[in-house]
Amino acid sequence: MKSTIRNNSKSTDAHVKKDDKVKVISGKDKGKIGKVLKVINKKNRVLVENVNIVKRHTKPTAKNRQGGIVEGEAPLHWSSVMLICNKCFSPSRTSQQKLEDGKKVRVCKKCNEIVDA
Ligand SMILES: [Zn+2]
Repeated sequence: MKSTIRNNSKSTDAHVKKDDKVKVISGKDKGKIGKVLKVINKKNRVLVENVNIVKRHTKPTAKNRQGGIVEGEAPLHWSSVMLICNKCFSPSRTSQQKLEDGKKVRVCKKCNEIVDA
């Protein structure tokens, strides 16, 4: 039996989380600010509110008998967004720090404040 399960997934944690405010730094929506709706860790992608809106043609389904065009957010690569620090209110990079109790938190590299509540 051949088992070629490779573990390609490096444990790169997303620098953003659900409900974070982010700024888009590349792509067609560059400059837009939105809230993270979802983080798709497996694909290194994030879904950001009102960003990367695409029209999708949908096939008729049981719910929607006609099918048609649906507009919605498409996930974008998380390197395309930057976290907006909730302390200094600027787009900033974060570093991870471990607290004494083992909890991991993100620290804004600009103001050195802990971003996570
Ligand atoms: Zn900051």
